[in-house]
Amino acid sequence: MKLDMTTLAEGSTTISFEVQASEIGPDPNLPEILMPVRVEALVFKRHSQVLIEGKLETVVKMVCSRCLESAPVKIQGEIRYDFRSLADETPSLKEEELKPDELDVEWYEGVDLDLNDPIRQSLILSLPMRPLCSEQCLGLCPNCGSNLNLVKCQCREEDDSNPFRKLKGLKFN
Ligand SMILES: [Zn+2]
Ligand SMILES: [Zn+2]
Repeated sequence: MKLDMTTLAEGSTTISFEVQASEIGPDPNLPEILMPVRVEALVFKRHSQVLIEGKLETVVKMVCSRCLESAPVKIQGEIRYDFRSLADETPSLKEEELKPDELDVEWYEGVDLDLNDPIRQSLILSLPMRPLCSEQCLGLCPNCGSNLNLVKCQCREEDDSNPFRKLKGLKFN
């Protein structure tokens, strides 16, 4: 996704767009992207400087941390960027008039702002540590390994008649 900054009005504008998965991936740090990335952002343009703050959302394919099945997982991220032109000869002007808070500075050449890199980075940072196929995922039986979302194993019933059942609940440190 390239944003032609000459098409943006001075001041603030709201933009929303979709970026095809093929523009962002494949990337070794990202799982497969299953849906176009939806981006909504507030853009503030002043001369050659463009500040972009927004949210993005997509669905990626991850392995559920409970049942170990591949599943589509929704990802939501943020982008906060301060695009500055390499051709800008008055950097001090921007420094004084616009003091963005903790925005990542990205330099651009010509008139195109390349948003693919910021979007990619944001997605990587937004990946869940413990993805779930669903909040209600029942996971695997710790005893027989059955996927409890798909089958109801007999382990619990067997446990009830097992005199050592209580020992299983003990934790050794
Ligand atoms: Zn699961
Ligand atoms: Zn079982």
